[in-house]
Amino acid sequence: MVTSSSHPNEGSALRIHQVSKDFPASDNPERRVPALDTVDLSVGASELVSIVGPSGCGKSTLLRLIAGLDTVSSGELWVGSEPITGPNAQRGLVFQDPNLFPWLTVKGNIQAGLVARGLLGEKRHEVDEFLKLVGLQDFANSYPHHLSGGMAQRVALARALINHPKVLLLDEPLGALDAFTRMRMQDEVLRLWQARGTTMLLVTHDIDEAIYMSDSIVIMTPHPGRIERTIRVDLERPRQRNSQEFLQLRGEILELLHFAGRAVH
Ligand code: ADP
Ligand code: MG
Repeated sequence: MVTSSSHPNEGSALRIHQVSKDFPASDNPERRVPALDTVDLSVGASELVSIVGPSGCGKSTLLRLIAGLDTVSSGELWVGSEPITGPNAQRGLVFQDPNLFPWLTVKGNIQAGLVARGLLGEKRHEVDEFLKLVGLQDFANSYPHHLSGGMAQRVALARALINHPKVLLLDEPLGALDAFTRMRMQDEVLRLWQARGTTMLLVTHDIDEAIYMSDSIVIMTPHPGRIERTIRVDLERPRQRNSQEFLQLRGEILELLHFAGRAVH
């Protein structure tokens, strides 16, 4: 385990204040449908917080607003002391699909953002550092079609982390992986989190993943998307998936989600 003195603590606090977002209804663009309703959320610097909730409760919408890819209908979002007004490399986004450029090598993919921003000359030494950080130094010259799903997702993580994000937004990043790879990748993400001190917000459908990884779990409910409850996870790391405390928390969250699902309809 990495001690706090050796980690760079790159993360900043994230604050979401009374954020609402609505979209035009698909059958009638004059009508607005609320996707998020007065969401308040605070994530401390270098915390890892998970969001769980049924499809359509606004998880991706919330991440897109934090990424600056979409604008709020009302409310405010802040990273540290800066309001979010648009996209910025300091807020990284990783999706279920790693979205690698198939014509570039692993190294080419990791440095693509630096090339686009004209920073490669200055930051070339970091490319090898991040290749090593995700354990892909022997695959630097491989192309994406030669990579397993887990390896491709490690490239996507390195590509985001090389920008030294203050907040890393993860939208079901492990959702397409088989169960064993997924558990290994959970440890990998935790290791990166501890190594960089990046603030992470992780959307997942997997309650075990949320308990295994997070400092807090935010439970959302749909129609409109709201935060139902935030649960602090105080279990020591590395966590034991079959411990009494783990299983008890799992039961409580399942009950909450079941109850929340029934309450909606
Ligand atoms: P989740 O990620 O939790 O499954 P989303 O954030 O994707 O949920 O969607 C929340 C709600 O907002 C859904 O009802 C969805 O149909 C609606 N929505 C999301 N994006 C758009 C959009 N660009 N236009 C219209 N409706 C949208
Ligand atoms: Mg989604």
